[in-house]
Amino acid sequence: MKNIAIADLLFPDINKDIEFYEKMYPPRKLKEGAKVTRIAPSPTGFIHLGILYGAIIDERLAHQSDGVFMLRIEDTDSKREVEGAVGLINSTMRFFGIEFDEGAVEKGDKGEYGPYRQRQRRDIYRTFAKYLVANGYAYPCFCTESDLDKMRDRQKQLKENFGYYGKWAIHRDLSYDEVVKQLEQKQTFVIRLRSVGSPSNTIQARDEIRGILSMPENNQDMVLLKSDGIPTYHFAHVIDDHLMRTTHVVRAEEWLPTWPVHLELFSFFGWDTPKFCHTAQLMKMDNGSKRKLSKRKDPELSLEYYRSQGYLPEAVWEYLMTILNSNFEPWRLANGNKDLKEFEFTTAKMSNSGALFDLVKLNGISKQVIAQMSGERVYDLLSAWAKRYDPEFYQTISAEKDKTIAILSIGRNKKKPRKDIYCWSQGKEFIKFVYDKYYLQEDEYPISIQADDIQSILKSYLEMYRHCDQKETWFEKIKLLTHKLGYAVRVKDYKQIPNKYRGNITDVTTVIRLAITGRSNSPDLWAIQQLLGEKAVHKRISQAIR
Ligand code: GLU
Repeated sequence: MKNIAIADLLFPDINKDIEFYEKMYPPRKLKEGAKVTRIAPSPTGFIHLGILYGAIIDERLAHQSDGVFMLRIEDTDSKREVEGAVGLINSTMRFFGIEFDEGAVEKGDKGEYGPYRQRQRRDIYRTFAKYLVANGYAYPCFCTESDLDKMRDRQKQLKENFGYYGKWAIHRDLSYDEVVKQLEQKQTFVIRLRSVGSPSNTIQARDEIRGILSMPENNQDMVLLKSDGIPTYHFAHVIDDHLMRTTHVVRAEEWLPTWPVHLELFSFFGWDTPKFCHTAQLMKMDNGSKRKLSKRKDPELSLEYYRSQGYLPEAVWEYLMTILNSNFEPWRLANGNKDLKEFEFTTAKMSNSGALFDLVKLNGISKQVIAQMSGERVYDLLSAWAKRYDPEFYQTISAEKDKTIAILSIGRNKKKPRKDIYCWSQGKEFIKFVYDKYYLQEDEYPISIQADDIQSILKSYLEMYRHCDQKETWFEKIKLLTHKLGYAVRVKDYKQIPNKYRGNITDVTTVIRLAITGRSNSPDLWAIQQLLGEKAVHKRISQAIR
């Protein structure tokens, strides 16, 4: 009776009961085995790689099983909220090929289990908190910040565990009259869990990735509702995932320590728990040791990085799948170009130790994906990226579309296509020498070649160059020139008797390549000359002659 009276005192305006919400959000009518998952980011404007990492797991689990994938916005901390963040989360996820079946959209919600923004669910949480208070599972705590600070100091002195529990939980058993008195004095209150656990007891719970875990029971009277009626993560998670009928909670391993709190709450309500998948931290190698990716040090932690650098979403997926499921790579080897959604993703094949994220590997996979595309397709994607992130370059490639497709097409459409490009910003760097406005001598002539020789090579080349020559003829002429200038036509000959020659044919072609492209490495030189045109070839060589 006392608890019911206190609950009414604390929540006089709450006139619905938890049954009302149970009916409002009934169990979903889905086929057997269908999974319901969600991501629950905070709208801070910073969307990190971990969100995509989790979202891929959620998306696969849900859509592989004809289930439902939701976007829930955890906006309980209004100070960290950034305007437009929900739109940004949606558009970023869409860019990465992730579609939600339900959830918060830029303006409003989509789906029957909303609202999907936690601040709009205030009365739902308060109804469930009222139920807990009425049933003795929670209570109001009127302690002020300074009360809690003092308690902490005292705990420190006595070398006792920090927190609000056991004998330290001084408002645990306030009488009805004491609660009335506090309220009359206009004291604000939070609602705390009345934990029944003891850390000397062990509970076991099954994690879908890690197997059965043993953990100490919770004994902390955690805050469930803050003084403004807004829930903490712990409470919101339990209420929302129950009412949204989530079957699988995929979240970062940072939530493992408070998992017993969540399990205790589920048990107080008498609800089935969803299945839990606590994912490993994304780590990177730094000077030989593993460390967490850091917002300050690692731009690649932000999803905007991949977008602005012009990474292909499918390559990022492909790479993340290799980290997520140990059997993905063998599957890919056996299944060539199949859509990765045909791969059966399972939580059992996930690693539970820190997942190592390696940009170099991502770049390798991206190169492979891009190498399979036609020059036209590469042009379209490069151009779409440039339009948004590099308008000047967009103008350039639009004005010289044929030339751009030509340079992008060199070395494609063969068994072992060239793998030069892994993202569009780097792709720009790779091809920009073909446009006069960007042409620049980036590499130095090899020091092994004397300055006079460089000049003779270039002069002779300019004389012999005929733009209409086919590749074979052109190369025969290079060989003649090489021989004439005292360089070895066959590298082998040069290696045998180096003193006999001034160098070998690769020195000669490097000099020519450098003059024409500004670089010592480039795709096929003859093809480049053809797409640059006779005038440009003459101009670049002439410019290099002093
Ligand atoms: N907002 C929480 C986080 O970003 C969500 C955790 C969860 O998925 O339950 O860590």
